[in-house]
Amino acid sequence: MKEFLLDCSLEELGRIVTPPYRAKQIFQWVYQRYVSDFGDISTLPKAVRAELNERFTLNAVSIAAKQKSVDESEKYLFRLADDHTIEAVLLLMREAQEDGDRVTRQAQWTICVSTQVGCKIGCAFCMTAKGGFKRDLSAGEIVAQVLAIKRDRQIPPEKSLNVVYMGMGEPLDNLENVAKAIGILSCEFGLHISPRRQTLSTSGISPKIETLGKMNLGVLLAISLHAIDDETRSKLMPINKAYNIESIIDATRRFPIDLRKRMMFEYLMIKGVNDSIDCARKLVKLLNPLRAKVNLIAFNPREESNFERPDRASMEAFQRFLLDCGVLCVIRQSRGIDIDAACGQLRERLSPLLRHTVS
Ligand code: SF4
Repeated sequence: MKEFLLDCSLEELGRIVTPPYRAKQIFQWVYQRYVSDFGDISTLPKAVRAELNERFTLNAVSIAAKQKSVDESEKYLFRLADDHTIEAVLLLMREAQEDGDRVTRQAQWTICVSTQVGCKIGCAFCMTAKGGFKRDLSAGEIVAQVLAIKRDRQIPPEKSLNVVYMGMGEPLDNLENVAKAIGILSCEFGLHISPRRQTLSTSGISPKIETLGKMNLGVLLAISLHAIDDETRSKLMPINKAYNIESIIDATRRFPIDLRKRMMFEYLMIKGVNDSIDCARKLVKLLNPLRAKVNLIAFNPREESNFERPDRASMEAFQRFLLDCGVLCVIRQSRGIDIDAACGQLRERLSPLLRHTVS
């Protein structure tokens, strides 16, 4: 089987092709001109193209299905070379940007990528968890999701966007490959997505947060907190029994972060479970004195779930309480609610249909 070229960092490719500057040319053609065939890299001698073709493939993922939302979000189901499927989502979001004391909102593309086929963490509200764990994605398979979406939507190469490691899988459970993908995505001859535009979202594996911090990659960190006490959190996220809230907050306090940025906390609001003002009060206490930003996300309902979506009024009251206490808090719009945008939902619904067909 051929190797994925997207698995190679610029340095690795520079050790394979001669002279090494060819690696930069290849990166530019692949990531900035979106070629999908080595034969189209016209600045390379024919012999080099043939050698590349012999050893590598550019197609680490193929689009198996996609679903576009009325809000312009688009969900992709990708097929891997071994026939497993993973999801990624393109979201058009209005990001809160801090400018001194002012907070403005700017439109920004964000691509949410998967890091594993399935997941071992087993969160109670997650469809991916129900399918179990199959395998880690390679760095190239992670990078390929961003490249394929940019190419498919014809997003100009120079257009900056955010990447969030928040699709299927726990990124810290595949840290080596995720760290490599962060490096490849940030390469100036490639997609050139600054690590400060890349956010790793974790269920909170405290020792791995420490490891990531020591790697000092410059990425942002988002913690899926979802509850303010261990009892509730352990019910929603069994991983909490191994790494409780205190250990996570402790690890985030030591995590190196750009002083202009904030540590992000994702808080999935579920009606009657974690949406009361009392929860908001405890959350403020828990995060003090971290420079934190809380993203409130309404639970995305689906038929077979026991959980319910909170009403808008209780989300706004929760947000107001946090803001009044000086904690930056935004209510994330449920982008793509009509396209099964919660992780694992599209794959769950379409995989049986896709086993033998590609649309
Ligand atoms: S929510 Fe994320 S960490 Fe939890 S089971 Fe799903 S994919 Fe894994």
